[in-house]
Amino acid sequence: MASSAFNPLNKTLTPITSNGNILAVKHKTQPITDAERHTLNTIYNESVIRMERTLQLLEKLDICLSSRSIDEQYKVKNIKQMLIDEEVDPDVLHALKMVKRHFYINITNNTIANVIQGVRILHDNLLKTCKGLMGQMDVRLQVLPHNPSAAEISKLYDKTYVLVPDNSGGWELSYYEDRVKKKTIPINDVDAQINNIPSVELATVNASLIIRKIMLYHAKNMQSKNDNVYISNISVKKQNDVNNLAIGYVHYVRKGVAWENYGPIYLDYRLLQNKPFLALITLMHEASHRYGWVQDRGYYHQEKLLKNGKGSRPYPEDLGKSPPKALNNADSYAYFVADVTGMNGLYDKQNSPAWLDPKKIQPLPAQKSPGSALKKFSLFALGAVAVGGICYLVSRRGFSNS
Ligand SMILES: [Zn+2]
Repeated sequence: MASSAFNPLNKTLTPITSNGNILAVKHKTQPITDAERHTLNTIYNESVIRMERTLQLLEKLDICLSSRSIDEQYKVKNIKQMLIDEEVDPDVLHALKMVKRHFYINITNNTIANVIQGVRILHDNLLKTCKGLMGQMDVRLQVLPHNPSAAEISKLYDKTYVLVPDNSGGWELSYYEDRVKKKTIPINDVDAQINNIPSVELATVNASLIIRKIMLYHAKNMQSKNDNVYISNISVKKQNDVNNLAIGYVHYVRKGVAWENYGPIYLDYRLLQNKPFLALITLMHEASHRYGWVQDRGYYHQEKLLKNGKGSRPYPEDLGKSPPKALNNADSYAYFVADVTGMNGLYDKQNSPAWLDPKKIQPLPAQKSPGSALKKFSLFALGAVAVGGICYLVSRRGFSNS
């Protein structure tokens, strides 16, 4: 399995954003074309813009719902009608309807508290995903029996949280960036339950669960330096395999009681030419694996008729309308964000929503030398040799996008 680990020496890296932190990865024999780079730049920028917009609307929705008294929050009611009657921002109302459409959370006969709970889970996973695409989320956790020595600190990855037992039977958590201690974080700000872990051994076994809590803390509270984000073409072998249906994937490795995602986001670059909107959705899908650590529970391979009878929309039969499944499903996040921010293809000057500042549809940056990024990635790849498997996005037969 180690052969499928990412080896930067056989690849070419091309910056796709002006800061050079987001890099396209291709095989040496397949240099990226200007057109591919342009579209990759476009869908990358648009993914971030759309996710940020969706997060804003979810936050407004949360504030609106949470402003009620606790008594009010636990009464069963028609929440959609309540917001219509209160004439809330139509985009916030639309976001609520999309929460129902993609995550099956009842909004007409439910408590406000239940809806808030679902909205927060989906917001938090989307926040990690968005921050990950922005180069913020490559954080590690190191569990140690004592405060790290200078030698141990010198071996830490760029962004590392260090967890050590304190003197009172609990734990102390510190954040190191570039091997310099930046902050001590109160355990309660991450998750009070960490203090119940009795030993270094058990903390190590559970590290892949603890890091999930830390990632959310990091996404919400820390402004760290920008990591490189790699968006690679799928392997040549998969490109040439007529039976291959995977249009995107990311690697994961089993660690203790759970798994961790790592490495580049893989995306079939042929979509950039033929189906750019599907490429956007695929990038958001894979990013929610890579940075939101969301799984695959079902795909939007089926069609459902629209209520107004005019056409149909992609629909995931296999989710069985289950909110817990949908909240842990990459395709649900990708189609949710697309639906909240407009399904009519990629944005351009003729097709851009009213909320979007046209200046944000960024032009392509100048070409930059990728030299330093190569060196950096080889360090990163070393830590990720043990490949546990792959999360796939399988292409949807008959899917067409203009
Ligand atoms: Zn997937």
